[in-house]
Formats: sequence, structure tokens, C-alpha cells
Amino acid sequence: MANESPSAADGTSRPVTIFGPDFPFPFDDWITHPAGLGSIPEEHLGAEVAIVGAGISGVIAAYELMKLGLKPVVYEASQMGGRLRSQQFEAAPTGVVAELGGMRFPVSSTTFYHYVDLLGLETAPFPNPLTPASPSTVIDIEGVTHYAERLDTLPELFNEVARAWADALESVEFTRIQDAIRARDVTTLKSLWDRLVPIWDDRTFYDFVATSDAFSKLSFHHREVFGQVGFGTGGWDSDFPNSMLEIFRVVMTNCDEDQRLVVGGVEQVPRGLWDHAPSNLIHWPAGTTLAALHSGATRPGVARIAHADNGFAITDVWGVVRHFPAVLTTCQSWVLTTQIECDESLFSHKLWTALDRTRYMQSSKTFVMVDRPFWKDKDPNTGRDVLSMTLTDRLTRGTYLFDNGDDKPGVICLTYSWMSDAMKMLPHTVEHRVRLALSALKKIYPDVDIASHIIGDPITVSWEADEHSLGAFKGALPGHYRYNRRMYSHFMQDDLPADERGIFLAGDDVSWTPAWVEGAVQTALNAVWGIARHFGGSTHPDNPGPGDVYAEIGPIELPD
Ligand SMILES: Cc1cc2nc3c(=O)[nH]c(=O)nc-3n(C[C@H](O)[C@H](O)[C@H](O)COP(=O)(O)OP(=O)(O)OC[C@H]3O[C@@H](n4cnc5c(N)ncnc54)[C@H](O)[C@@H]3O)c2cc1C
Repeated sequence: MANESPSAADGTSRPVTIFGPDFPFPFDDWITHPAGLGSIPEEHLGAEVAIVGAGISGVIAAYELMKLGLKPVVYEASQMGGRLRSQQFEAAPTGVVAELGGMRFPVSSTTFYHYVDLLGLETAPFPNPLTPASPSTVIDIEGVTHYAERLDTLPELFNEVARAWADALESVEFTRIQDAIRARDVTTLKSLWDRLVPIWDDRTFYDFVATSDAFSKLSFHHREVFGQVGFGTGGWDSDFPNSMLEIFRVVMTNCDEDQRLVVGGVEQVPRGLWDHAPSNLIHWPAGTTLAALHSGATRPGVARIAHADNGFAITDVWGVVRHFPAVLTTCQSWVLTTQIECDESLFSHKLWTALDRTRYMQSSKTFVMVDRPFWKDKDPNTGRDVLSMTLTDRLTRGTYLFDNGDDKPGVICLTYSWMSDAMKMLPHTVEHRVRLALSALKKIYPDVDIASHIIGDPITVSWEADEHSLGAFKGALPGHYRYNRRMYSHFMQDDLPADERGIFLAGDDVSWTPAWVEGAVQTALNAVWGIARHFGGSTHPDNPGPGDVYAEIGPIELPD
């Protein structure tokens, strides 16, 4: 997908970013504007806000609320960072990690990168298939192995599939939508996108592919290849049952393009913000950090959220009760009905339905550390890399190679899979998972002894087995647009009954772009706006916030 851009209204040209399409608000501009995010009335400065969860949305909301002069009180049941978890290999040099959750971050995630840059973290291109960051790619499908360094060196079938996908997207005005995103032309973007919502909310990704003119002209095998290897980031077929709107958002905002990793692990972002002293604090003395406001560490997990006089009573897992005038929950929404005892009156029944109908996808990853990036060795017979980034229809699905430099151990993500492929791994021990993956890879690389390079202990994760997550990320099904809109719009509380105000939602599963960190960040910023307003705060006229323009450009409403 080309990145040339037409000119924006002000004569400058911008790249494609995660700007809408449902709610085209410039979160990246809002947070960098010199006027700041707003102000809170004097009498509320220092007021406490409970934040449930220290993943990226909880930490960013806490950081921005602290800057506004409120006192965030963050509770975490498990690990800070949540699904941005970088697990260090035992006894390895610092920074040799397994990225258990998010690992490849599209440059279109401009709000997320604002915080990465604020912390001065180094990033590097992610070794995706057929990108310059992967020296070579192997596609192994139906027992036939293809080796390539670029897409155009693969057999014609793969190029036909790539062209069919591009043509299918053009049938829904892909280029015009991307041009409107680049130009930040809200009127055009909304008119193009809002037309697609009622049509494609009811239909699956598979339906779109199978009924498109472009794929209908080709064989079933083309569709199969598309599902099994995909393009950009790897296989797509795990997403085939999802609402097509969700896939449109991914490709139209370039989530699947130009992705980078955070050198040394993405967990440095939430941890870094925890310790970062912002320069423009209101109310708090210079040098104040989230860590300092919390005596160093988060409070324990939350066991109960209840209404109380003038707000909410939060009970932690040790039975300690504290009262707050406002609460932000950032845990996955199923946690609110399975782990935390919540007063039913916190939300309307319609919102509870939306929260509980959320559908999570499963995901499993298994990593090993190896003595060196041996995959760059050349096979003496073929002259090719001995091992490549590998996409396959076998058990492993995607194998990724992380080169930490010739002087450091390398890391191999032996298998990264979703949905039924992840479920195949669920009951197995880490050792068995490694054996299964090695055995699948042996069929593709019969002469390579990967096991002989393994050092240290392997690392694995199944997010659906984590009681504090219950799944990897939302994957909305057909008919879920209305649910998504209810959850996303909940930060706009002026029209809610008084007893439903003051509790806010943020995070990946409230967003329009689940599985992409930018959605978690943007919903955190919506919540910051909502919480500031709850305390009678307002934004600067030169820098209106998401809630100030929501009525005008918010997500289209479908009839109930
Ligand atoms: C396998 C996987 C791959 C991904 N890949 C990418 C990628 O490549 N690129 C990308 O941009 N994004 C990716 N993502 C998405 C990204 O990781 C998420 O969008 C983001 O990390 C979500 O942040 P969050 O704050 O919304 O939720 P979380 O990180 O889940 O934070 C919620 C927190 O709430 C805590 N919690 C739960 N219960 C309680 C309780 N009772 N009390 C207190 N705290 C509680 C949890 O422990 C957790 O820390 C991926 C996610 C996964 C799982």
C-alpha cells in the first residue's frame, strides 16, 4: 500500500495514522498541544481516582490525570504492563526478552509512539515476512516450501492473491479512505466510512473475501493461501469469522504496515511512564511521578467495586476498602463479571450486555533463546539462509526470528498462533509445546538442528489461561458494532442517570482497534477527558478534547 499522500488542508501532507475511521479525532495532536489537556477546578485538585489495571491504558490515564492535578490510585492484580509483557530470559543479558503480548507496533500508532518517544526508547523494524527486516521468508503450505526475499520472487499464485486482496479493498474505496485519513479530511472520511458500517457490521471477513469480485474469479486455493499466509503480518484465517468492519479498520489505518519493535521490550513503556516525572505538572511538586504517588508500587488487585456515598467503594483482594469519587476500569470486561464483584447498578443493562457479549480471541506464543542468530548461516548447497521467518499451515503458523546482535543470544518465537491453533497448545506444558513446534519445523527444515542452539529455559503464554485476562484481545463478531459503540461512547456521561456516572471504561476491548495498542491508548485519553469533566474540568478553547467534538464527529449510531 503506497504511502504517498495528497496535501492536507493546511498544505502539509501527513502519513496514514490511526485517525478514526469511526471517530476521527486527532488524539496525537491533542496530547502534544502546548495548551495541555485541560484544567480541573481548584477545589478538586488532589482528588483521588481509582484506576483498575496497570496495563498501558491504566498507566497512561494515570499519568495524564496526575499531570492535570488529580491523584490516580492504581490497582493491579498481576503484572504492571498487562498485555505489554516482556519476559526476560533467565540469566540472559538484559533486554533479551520474549514479547508475550504486543510486539509489533505500526508507525501509524502515533499516540502510542508519543509516549515511546517521550521516554527516549529505541525502536527497530519488526522482522515481518517479506520485509527488509527479515533477511528471508519461507512459506510452507500443503507440504510445499517456497523461499523468498521479496513478494515478487514468490510464485505467481502469491502475487495473484496479493493483487486480489488489493482489488477487493478497492471495491470499498480503500484508497479514497486512506487519502481522507492522510489529509485528516473528517467530512470525506466519515461519509465514506459511515456508509460501510451498516453494510459490513453484519458480515464476516470470510464473506467479504469469498464474495468479492476479485477473489471470485480465482480458485478456492487462492482464498486458502490468502487465509493461511496473508500479507504484511501473516495468516488471516483466524480472523475469518470476525466482523469485516474490524478488518477494514486494520488495513485502512495501516495497522498491518511498517511495524516496529521496542528494543529491549515494550514493557519499558508502561514501566517508564510509572517512573517518569512530567515537566508541566499542575498541583503536584516538580519531580512527582506515579511511583512516588504510590510509595513505589501499585495497590493490590481489586475484589469489589460498589456504589458508596458520593462515589465508589473499592475493596482490594486483602479486604481493604477505600472510597473514591471516580473510578476507571481498564481490565478486560469479562473480568468485571468473573473476578470483580461489581454492583449491577454501576452500568445500565444495555452496557452490561455489551461488556459481556465481547468476544475474545485466543492466542499462544512459545519462545526459545538460542546461542546466536545462527539462522543467518548459509546453506552450503543452496546459498540460502538456513532458517527464515516462516509462515506455514502447520501447527506453528508463524515463526519469528529476533536478532539481538552477533554478540548476544538470539530469540526465536517458534510459534505464534490464534484461535483454534492456539487452543491446540492450551493444555500442554512449555516443554511439550517446544517439542511440537520443533517437530513441525523439522518437516520444513530437515537439515537444521534448532534444538542444538537452544540455551536457557523456554517461555510460553496462553492469554486465555490467564485469569486476569481471559483472552488475548477482542475480535468483534458480526452484529457487534452497537455493543462496541455503547462501550466506546460511555465516557460521554452527561446524559447518563446520575447513579451511572463517575465510573469509566478504557482499554483494548473498549476500542475500535482491538489487538492494537493504539486503541488502548486512545480510549485511555477519552477516559481522561471524561474524568476531568466529571470533576467540573474543561479543555482549553484552542485544544478541544474528544468529548468536546464527540456529538459532531462521533461514531455513527445504528438503530437498535
Ligand atoms: C498476544 C497479543 C499480541 C498482541 N500484539 C500486538 C501488536 O503486535 N501490536 C499492537 O499494537 N498491539 C498488540 N496487542 C494488543 C496490546 O497488547 C493491547 O492493546 C494492550 O496491551 C492492552 O492494554 P490495556 O491496558 O487495554 O489492557 P491490559 O494490558 O490487559 O491491562 C489491564 C490490566 O488489568 C489488570 N487486572 C485484571 N484484573 C484486575 C483486578 N481485579 N484488579 C486490578 N487489576 C486487574 C490486568 O492484570 C492487566 O494488567 C497484542 C496483545 C496480545 C495479547
